[in-house]
Amino acid sequence: MALNTGTIAGNWAAWQAAEIVAARVETAQVKTLTLRPQTWRSFRAGQHLDVRLTAPDGYQAQRSYSIASAPEQEGTLDLTIELMADGEVSPYFHEVAQAGDRIEVRGPIGGPFTWTAGQGGPLLLVAGGSGIVPLMAMLRHRANAAPSAQATLLYSSRGWDEVIYREELERRAGDEPQLRVLHTLTRSQPAGWQGFSRRVDDAMLGETLVTLAGVPLCYVCGPSPFVEAVAEGLVAQGVPPERVRTERFGPSGA
Ligand SMILES: Cc1cc2nc3c(=O)[nH]c(=O)nc-3n(C[C@H](O)[C@H](O)[C@H](O)COP(=O)(O)OP(=O)(O)OC[C@H]3O[C@@H](n4cnc5c(N)ncnc54)[C@H](O)[C@@H]3O)c2cc1C
Repeated sequence: MALNTGTIAGNWAAWQAAEIVAARVETAQVKTLTLRPQTWRSFRAGQHLDVRLTAPDGYQAQRSYSIASAPEQEGTLDLTIELMADGEVSPYFHEVAQAGDRIEVRGPIGGPFTWTAGQGGPLLLVAGGSGIVPLMAMLRHRANAAPSAQATLLYSSRGWDEVIYREELERRAGDEPQLRVLHTLTRSQPAGWQGFSRRVDDAMLGETLVTLAGVPLCYVCGPSPFVEAVAEGLVAQGVPPERVRTERFGPSGA
């Protein structure tokens, strides 16, 4: 799809051009693109951008993508995009887009599903598949701005090779004393696997909640059924509903 580089404006609702400056493979189905927008705007971890592609005949398609990078990474923004093989927009980023290409973006967008260091901990982050993306921005921001805030990530993936940001998560879990990273692998597990190996359920949420001192602020992101089940499970485990914030990415998933 050829791209219209669009216009620049001073507010979040205006489309502006952004250059793809780097692309990195995360897993077989997931890539991270680093964008340099013409005007970089500060944002809160958890917010997303709208991305718009324009074909030569003028046809336009737009989708939302969470910002993966920390707010402290000024000048550029990382988006991490999972390939939906029959999709309209995500295949463009996997099969066509290259460093030097330009797309249009607007944002940052999003209110309640954000976390800033001033909110403190404890934090419980629960991700299903690519739902890790906005939670990764929170973890990166936490490491930069509030490393003493206690946090636990519970991350559901189909298999070990599908864990996005796997090496960074392993490194952070080793280096950051106040961070716990728990994985559940729902379809296949490597030999000797000692983590969870089923879909997130109430018992797993209970085991995760006890890793934190006090009632956490919870952020849940992933496919809609996953988010609904986890949010209900957290409330069933005694977390007040107003402490549970959710973001839904799509109809199906991990
Ligand atoms: C606020 C927000 C933030 C998002 N952030 C991210 C992100 O950081 N990374 C990311 O990869 N995606 C993210 N998404 C999803 C993204 O906007 C697109 O929906 C996704 O990339 C599919 O677009 P597509 O054009 O390739 O597929 P479409 O042409 O829209 O759909 C193709 C097929 O895939 C199905 N489908 C669409 N979306 C999903 C999904 N998420 N899961 C499973 N099946 C789906 C459709 O039902 C359809 O059958 C986010 C969505 C929202 C609302």
